[in-house]
Amino acid sequence: MNRQDTESIKQLLSTKKKIVIVPHKNPDGDAIGSTLGLYHYLIKSNHQVNVLVPNDYPTFLKWIPGNDTILKHDSKTKECNALIEDADIIFTLDFNAFHRTGNMESILSESDAIKIMIDHHQMPDDYATYMFSDVSMSSTCEMVYHFIDMLGDANLIDADISTCLYVGIMTDTGSFRFLSTTSRTHQIVAQLIEKGANNTEIHNNVYDTNSYNRLQLLGCALRNLKVIPESRAAYITLSQEELHKYDYKKGDTEGVVNYALSLKNTILAAIFIEDKQEGIIKISLRSKGHFSVNELSRAHFCGGGHTNAAGGKSYLSLKDTVAKFISILPSYNKALNNE
Ligand code: 5GP
Ligand code: MN
Repeated sequence: MNRQDTESIKQLLSTKKKIVIVPHKNPDGDAIGSTLGLYHYLIKSNHQVNVLVPNDYPTFLKWIPGNDTILKHDSKTKECNALIEDADIIFTLDFNAFHRTGNMESILSESDAIKIMIDHHQMPDDYATYMFSDVSMSSTCEMVYHFIDMLGDANLIDADISTCLYVGIMTDTGSFRFLSTTSRTHQIVAQLIEKGANNTEIHNNVYDTNSYNRLQLLGCALRNLKVIPESRAAYITLSQEELHKYDYKKGDTEGVVNYALSLKNTILAAIFIEDKQEGIIKISLRSKGHFSVNELSRAHFCGGGHTNAAGGKSYLSLKDTVAKFISILPSYNKALNNE
């Protein structure tokens, strides 16, 4: 975002506006943290603001300040659509194309409100009036910090905003360890702690509130782990039956793919999760170093994301999806073995 855009947005926000903030479908820590962080900032700046999420999100995010104000589009469709139609400004956070919002796609693309994108995914679509897109950023939460700072309002960042933004930086960086974590990221996190984010409590709320069933499901996933040494790849499967057995709840499989990536010498990891309701296999891909799972997912699994973390889907059966994955690996062997 250039200086001129910053000035225009300052001007735009200098009078009270009706604002809607939207993250991607199946929102994660960065999506909820960034939308609520921005929400608190805009409320403090005296606007009328609503966070509208496409659908439900994990319980381990349901304590974040402002959580109770979130409206879910799938259960409150009319109310959400009315707010979108009436909005002066729509902030779209943590996604790069309207189709990433699922059923909100059409109402968002039809809206003539001013759109402001804040996002760090690769290859963003060109729908936004103001586009703040930076693929080098660790998280959308880090970008919201920069956004508020650019508007000259860093002094407005309080404990609630800090807590929200800390969550997304923490979850999207794998607790400050992925390649995207820079010294600047740490400086911002330090600021957030100074302004009131309780880091120990946040980690505890997000990572140490597991149900017994969730850990049993993890055990099942680890028993299903397969390794393909010649491709330096590993993958995990979870069938609908297995999810059912352990009383699967939204968010229970979050982070499981990282166990496959934690294997020594593994560069590429995948998890294939059967979703009979949606009629798809949900795929999460992770990598180490320069191997791009964004490109792999775009080429073969109708998805995308970042170099080291991407999502995708398959309309084949679980078995056939895994077979497809195994069949395409040899074409990546050279890249994987050069890492
Ligand atoms: P996850 O595997 O956790 O669902 O997603 C990993 C990363 O890729 C997240 O940043 C997520 O937003 C992004 N992602 C997941 N699915 C898609 C997709 O279909 N398209 C794009 N562009 N990004 C995705
Ligand atoms: Mn993100």
